Amino acid sequence: MTFDAATKMQFLYTLRSKGVTDARVLTAMEQVDRADYVKGTFADRAYEDMPLPIACGQTISQPSVVGLMTQALNVQPRDKVLEIGTGSGYQAAILSKLARRVYTVDRYRRLVHGARAVFEAHDITNITTFTADGSHGFDEQAPFDRILLTAAAEDPPGPLLAQLRIGGIMVLPVGQSDAVQSLIRVTRSESGYDYDELRAVRFVPLLEGLGQE
Ligand code: SAH
Repeated sequence: MTFDAATKMQFLYTLRSKGVTDARVLTAMEQVDRADYVKGTFADRAYEDMPLPIACGQTISQPSVVGLMTQALNVQPRDKVLEIGTGSGYQAAILSKLARRVYTVDRYRRLVHGARAVFEAHDITNITTFTADGSHGFDEQAPFDRILLTAAAEDPPGPLLAQLRIGGIMVLPVGQSDAVQSLIRVTRSESGYDYDELRAVRFVPLLEGLGQE
């Protein structure tokens, strides 16, 4: 599926009108073709501002929410970023344009393999993918400058808080999976963690253990 320039212009306009105003984030979102990450029946809707179904009963997030989360994360060029919830790989690809290195983890091997294939096809070389229960983080590579969760936890997982560098930022949806959740930003300081609530969101739940596929 290929989309024309007018469709992509409209997409960027929609992102801006929904509050994605950071020029670096908009440029990254312009560079990453969402159509590469939406497969099958829904491919022709890749440029709509909608979450869409992907394999394993999961979803690729709504682009404006991806933009707002990326903006809240305030990624810097030297940053090492951890993403929990690879899904299609779309969010990780955007992060890869802004950061030095991205580690992304999903509990479904099938999703991780699918995302890795797209990264390879597009010569994206600064993303490391792995299959695991991401709520434990990735101790070998900690601390991280930025951590992003794209699945909703009831509370920020302890291991992830511990793996956040002092001065680092973590963005995540919190709340029960069947209710409206809040997107929160956690900033780690010398003396502890500061929390601010950004907006209401709706994500799939952060689940324990590995998926079956
Ligand atoms: N960021 C994705 C959207 C992800 S949807 C994208 O851009 O397409 C949320 C993902 O979180 C799902 O793929 C789900 O399998 C994954 N997930 C849920 N709980 C998890 C856990 N404990 N560890 C790792 N991944 C998890």
